Amino acid sequence: MSEVWFEIRDLHVKIAGTDKEILKGLNLTVNQGEIHAIMGPNGSGKSTTAYAIAGHPNYEVTSGDILFKGKSILELEADERSRAGIFLAFQYPVSIPGVTVANFLRTALNARIKVEAAAQNNGVMPSNVKGMPIPVFAKKLREAMSVLKVDQSFAGRYLNEGFSGGEKKRAEILQMEMLRPDMAVLDETDSGLDIDALKIVANGVNQLRTRDRAMIVVTHYQRLLNYIVPDQVHVLAHGRIVKSGDKNLALELDQSGYVGLEEAVTA
Ligand code: ADP
Ligand code: MG
Repeated sequence: MSEVWFEIRDLHVKIAGTDKEILKGLNLTVNQGEIHAIMGPNGSGKSTTAYAIAGHPNYEVTSGDILFKGKSILELEADERSRAGIFLAFQYPVSIPGVTVANFLRTALNARIKVEAAAQNNGVMPSNVKGMPIPVFAKKLREAMSVLKVDQSFAGRYLNEGFSGGEKKRAEILQMEMLRPDMAVLDETDSGLDIDALKIVANGVNQLRTRDRAMIVVTHYQRLLNYIVPDQVHVLAHGRIVKSGDKNLALELDQSGYVGLEEAVTA
């Protein structure tokens, strides 16, 4: 357990098919058990960072590296990264008409179980691996839904189809509750939540805050960090981390805004 849990090294990312470079040498190290917050003005590249970690094909890494448990993940496709235990809660979750929340979660969970079984069998998928039995899955899902205070009918609805902003965010955290990733990235999970929903979602996140996983919480506002207290706060501007500190940095930003920081960078 001496290796670094998660590390971004001098990462440069551009929008695929364009010359538009968004990340220009981003460095970040997150140890197992830690929660790091990334804050920054709109358009600074926070979501680009999240997508690059998750392996979204529109975001092309031109140089640098992303290491998870000591190995580069750049060659892995998005679904392989997910099965390896990396999770992204999207800022703008997409709807999947025809696929229920329960079906979606069960498929994702079983895919992960199979990868774990293969990992324990020299990389070969054992032929007898079954997914999680339905009653076990159903019980887990019920428990996760009650933590997030969503109605049990949620499970039978099509994923994100007609969901309110708050329901979409809860559906993202529900996925995290079920998949129990080793490395989670939450992109603006607070947006669109009223204060009660924010507390419920933060409570769900805090329950997953254990020594054996790490998280990056992306947010524009300090408010979320009253409920999910980060180990470190980083400010992203112009494609780089321009400042890092403890949770008090978020409070300072709340007072002074990002304006001073932006000027400091461009000067
Ligand atoms: P943030 O999440 O910090 O608000 P983003 O990472 O979403 O910022 O965006 C950073 C910059 O990259 C913005 O200028 C945005 O317009 C641009 N950008 C992001 N995604 C795309 C895309 N798919 N196509 C073109 N430009 C994009
Ligand atoms: Mg964003």
